[in-house]
Amino acid sequence: MIHPNRTYTIGDITITKIEEMRLNVATPAFLYPSWEAAELEPNLHWLTPSNMDAGTGNLIQSIHAWLVRTPEHTILIDTGSGNDKERPRNPIFHQLNTPFLQRLAAAGVLPEDVDYVLHTHLHVDHVGWNTQRIDGRWVPTFPNARHVFSRAEEDYYGSPDSHNEVNVPSLGVFEDSVAPIIAAGQAERISNEGGDYLENFTFRPTKGHSIGHMSIELRSKGEVALFTGDVMHHPLQVVRPDWNSVFCEWQEAALASRRWVLEQGAEHNLLLFTPHFAETSAGYVTRQGDRFAWRYE
Ligand SMILES: [Zn+2]
Repeated sequence: MIHPNRTYTIGDITITKIEEMRLNVATPAFLYPSWEAAELEPNLHWLTPSNMDAGTGNLIQSIHAWLVRTPEHTILIDTGSGNDKERPRNPIFHQLNTPFLQRLAAAGVLPEDVDYVLHTHLHVDHVGWNTQRIDGRWVPTFPNARHVFSRAEEDYYGSPDSHNEVNVPSLGVFEDSVAPIIAAGQAERISNEGGDYLENFTFRPTKGHSIGHMSIELRSKGEVALFTGDVMHHPLQVVRPDWNSVFCEWQEAALASRRWVLEQGAEHNLLLFTPHFAETSAGYVTRQGDRFAWRYE
């Protein structure tokens, strides 16, 4: 089910989810190598029906981009998985044909309207719509956009260091979805320490899931939100921040970054925009002893 898109407001900025895919494929034990079956029962009341398929026990997730409209700019946070990409070793992303651009158009935005794309990181499901295959070539989808990402991500995913068996989901991604952006002169790098960008954004380093992963803070008129990126893949990790996903590449750093995001979120009551939670994909965390609780907004 496609959840009806709601538009959020932070000060004078609006945020709308542009959905690409709903996933119902990962078992908890696959997504979380530290999964404990004893966690199922006490959490079942909120897991089903929208966060877990009651029939299969699979976790329900989403892949989407966040459309951010400021008075001056039209911005995407990450770009999903893209159409026509060759991912033979990763069937979820292989040769997709989704109406992502039609959904963007339904929100009132054409590709040429996008003037910035801010990337949390450069994994397969976050850079895909950077490019489209036209006449056999990968060309930028958003011809007027500056694509902003951390230098560490480019250095690593553009190098042979990342082109190995451990990084199967990333094989070919840099070549078809990031390199054409760089070749077109549309790339802009953020230092590995993060920093302010435009008037309303701050890149916050949250490495671990990937080498130069960034969460992106948004501020307007005293209100603050955080695009978390892949510090979490499912609200189960709000309850169990000590569980890394199978896709987290640097384990210790991923744990620390997840805890930082949850603590910031709880302490400052931040509206969190996640890349992979189901339902609205946005919400709040509150402290519950050593753990946290999640509430969709
Ligand atoms: Zn992801």
